[in-house]
Amino acid sequence: MPEDTILSTSGLTKEFAGFTAVNGVDLKVRRGSIHALIGPNGAGKTTCFNLLTKFLAPTRGTILYNGRDITREKPAEIARLGLVRSFQISAVFPQLSVLTNVRIALQRKRGDNFDFWRSERTLKSLDEDARRLVEAVGLSSFQALTAGELSYGRKRALEIATTLALDPEMLLLDEPMAGMGREDVERIEALIRKVSKDRTILMVEHNLSVVASLSDRITVLARGQVLAEGDYAAVSKDPRVVEAYIGS
Ligand code: ADP
Repeated sequence: MPEDTILSTSGLTKEFAGFTAVNGVDLKVRRGSIHALIGPNGAGKTTCFNLLTKFLAPTRGTILYNGRDITREKPAEIARLGLVRSFQISAVFPQLSVLTNVRIALQRKRGDNFDFWRSERTLKSLDEDARRLVEAVGLSSFQALTAGELSYGRKRALEIATTLALDPEMLLLDEPMAGMGREDVERIEALIRKVSKDRTILMVEHNLSVVASLSDRITVLARGQVLAEGDYAAVSKDPRVVEAYIGS
């Protein structure tokens, strides 16, 4: 695998009781890029994502991450290797403050779940790191609110913060703009751009104007297969892509 490829799949396939949802997908994600997976409804994007994050086991095919075969690895091991999925709303505790949510995520990364032995100094550095992350995602003025009190878009920013607490090398974003108003979309778009400076991002996203402005590279899926690949200008002009969207 060339060194500039961080994640690749070969012949990735998922069958559900005879129905092939993902069919021989070869995907290559370049290190440091923002790569979008798009396609009409039922194209197999979510299934593909679930295969990459090990929520589902592939029927056939392989997944390489940094040259390592992770096809049979468990989700926790994959996260340890630096490949982390965000936007699992369940990762945020609605009754706890924004700052506490981030602190808990940082503690989890450090593998320490016990309060009683920690020195004051450790606690202070944890607190500083949490504040830095909260600031990085633009939530400083909301840090004392509970996560449940945040707007939808800001909750997603908090989810990004809790994911960043794990210090991932590559982030998988599952429809980061889903259900958002224009203002939230702009805020999250800026945040993704900022976060991508030193990370690779793979996202499934329906909002094509977001895809157009954020992505370096796009893979279009249709009926479980790769239909086209390239930058937005190239794939949006591809007659097969136009037809797949119109026909869906
Ligand atoms: P997308 O995210 O692109 O809309 P999905 O990956 O959700 O597409 O679905 C691709 C196809 O696989 C759809 O036809 C869907 O009905 C089917 N599918 C997805 N999950 C399952 C499942 N657990 N059992 C059976 N069929 C499924």
